[in-house]
Amino acid sequence: MSEIVVSGIRPTGKLHLGNYFGAVQNFLKLQEAHEAYFFIADYHSLTTHPTPADLNASVYRVFAEYLALGLNPEKCTLYLQSDLPQTAELYLFLNMNAYKGELERVTSFKEKARSQPDNINAGLLTYPVLMAADILIHKGTRVPVGKDQEQHLEMARTFANRFNRLYQTEIFGEPQAFSFGDKLVKVPGLTGGGKMSKSAGEADNIYLDDDAVVLQKKIMRAVSDSGPSEPGAPKSQAVQNLFDLMELVCAPDVIAQFDKDHKAGTIRYGDLKKQLAADMETFVAPLREKIREMLANKDAVKKAAAIGAEKARESAEKTMKEVRQAIGFRSF
Ligand code: ATP
Ligand code: MG
Repeated sequence: MSEIVVSGIRPTGKLHLGNYFGAVQNFLKLQEAHEAYFFIADYHSLTTHPTPADLNASVYRVFAEYLALGLNPEKCTLYLQSDLPQTAELYLFLNMNAYKGELERVTSFKEKARSQPDNINAGLLTYPVLMAADILIHKGTRVPVGKDQEQHLEMARTFANRFNRLYQTEIFGEPQAFSFGDKLVKVPGLTGGGKMSKSAGEADNIYLDDDAVVLQKKIMRAVSDSGPSEPGAPKSQAVQNLFDLMELVCAPDVIAQFDKDHKAGTIRYGDLKKQLAADMETFVAPLREKIREMLANKDAVKKAAAIGAEKARESAEKTMKEVRQAIGFRSF
């Protein structure tokens, strides 16, 4: 049986290098080999109450960026979650068999409840139910996600099995987490700390539509250290981060030379950064151009969204017919 891939994308900001190597690249491979559904999770984003203008703008941007980066409406189904009200319907049904106790025990809920005590809304509590609906609406079996989503996926399996048992059907399979290879990519940020991430702020991120000048400035300002304390000394975290970034865009012999210089204690970080900035610009320039073109091409974005919505609805309606019938609706 061929796999059905489903993955959601949060409309939370401009895409950066980490999103590209950690997510987009996988999506590009998946759309070649599987029936794949990728959606912009705009229902999900309502838990934090964005203004209509902000919601609209960020959903448009993310959709356009993914299109520009190569998600192809002919090869995959790229759609907006809110274009599929069937998801909301399935969410309602699944909610009838999702229990307060198990939802309250979910780690991400507990974290959110702690960090935003003034906005512990029911949508936050039932987030895993909506996520299960997102996947099950297409009978998804493979869900490319990071480690942080493992618990949500476990719940999606629970809800699927529970529904099957309750209505004595086999409508839903068991969605499994999926990643390429055994090593998850982690693209580090520029300020010496953890990973590049949208919420980390401008200085940490290389956005895929950064100008050449901005790119150069950010990389020249990236945190390094005061140089190897002695020949052969191990790399500090900040310097390792710079080498990790080089791995993504620089030629192997170039990296090997800087590595040799580091071991010898003769490395000049200014030179390394100049090289990294130049190679990064070579990598980012064509992506930047495509993103900007797509952002300006409202017609193309609208058309792609319409195609995606139609394909997604067809798949969803098929599932929901079975679901409604299993529950006992409209069977006379
Ligand atoms: P936020 O700060 O809002 O959490 P983010 O930058 O972490 O944003 P997400 O929307 O959480 O981005 O993740 C989108 C996809 O990009 C996920 O598949 C995630 O695993 C991947 N991703 C995000 N940051 C990195 C990174 N630095 N390296 C590799 N993959 C990443
Ligand atoms: Mg994240």
